[in-house]
Amino acid sequence: MTDLRGTLLLGDHHVHSTFSDDAHSTLAENIAAATTQGLSVVRLTEHVRADTAWVPEFVAAVAAEPVPSSLTVLTGVEAKLLSVAGDIDAPTELDGIDALVLADHQFPGTDGPWSPTATRERIAAGLSPADALEQFVVASIAAMTTFDHTARTLQLAHWFSILPKVGLSEDDLTDEQLDRWSTAASATGTLVEINEKWGCPGARAVRAALANGVTLVASTDSHVAGDVGRYERVGRILDGALALR
Ligand SMILES: [Zn+2]
Ligand SMILES: [Zn+2]
Repeated sequence: MTDLRGTLLLGDHHVHSTFSDDAHSTLAENIAAATTQGLSVVRLTEHVRADTAWVPEFVAAVAAEPVPSSLTVLTGVEAKLLSVAGDIDAPTELDGIDALVLADHQFPGTDGPWSPTATRERIAAGLSPADALEQFVVASIAAMTTFDHTARTLQLAHWFSILPKVGLSEDDLTDEQLDRWSTAASATGTLVEINEKWGCPGARAVRAALANGVTLVASTDSHVAGDVGRYERVGRILDGALALR
């Protein structure tokens, strides 16, 4: 615990390459950037959906890359949470993938994913903000508890990033909700990412995660190699969480 900050910032657990359609750097460029930054671990992570067919090619391409002995290269696929039942939009065959990086790109609805606009409309039509926040917490816990953790690691990407998109705030989650969320992460061995790009989860959630023994990881969510392993917000969030203890 003495140098949690230093240890965390030597990893980047969410780095996109050109296998993701919105990213610009090759696997080799990201590995070189991680090495230049002096990282000890990098998780090469690509966007997938249930019908994505190139995961075996991605696994083979990563395995073919030369890696310096100072760096551990891990693999991940980023897939969205679909519903309050915890369903995930990922292919069933993920051989060779170390982690499923679960993303809150849409709001997990009772009947499937709700877009930010659809969620705002439901809130305007009478879904209370408190009930919406509770629905999100319940969905998060359902995903962690129904996931097959024996097959690969589950990692929460930029958790709570959906809330401001739908007019809600992480600040309005109760201590009890953060405790339930982080207890589920700890009990299931789910990694929680502190994400540079989105600046979340915030200090209160990270404090709850630390209090409940959750394994935290840092990530840039980089889409270009120059961003790999470069942190400002993650350090501030961590400092804020440690100051709250
Ligand atoms: Zn994402
Ligand atoms: Zn991402």
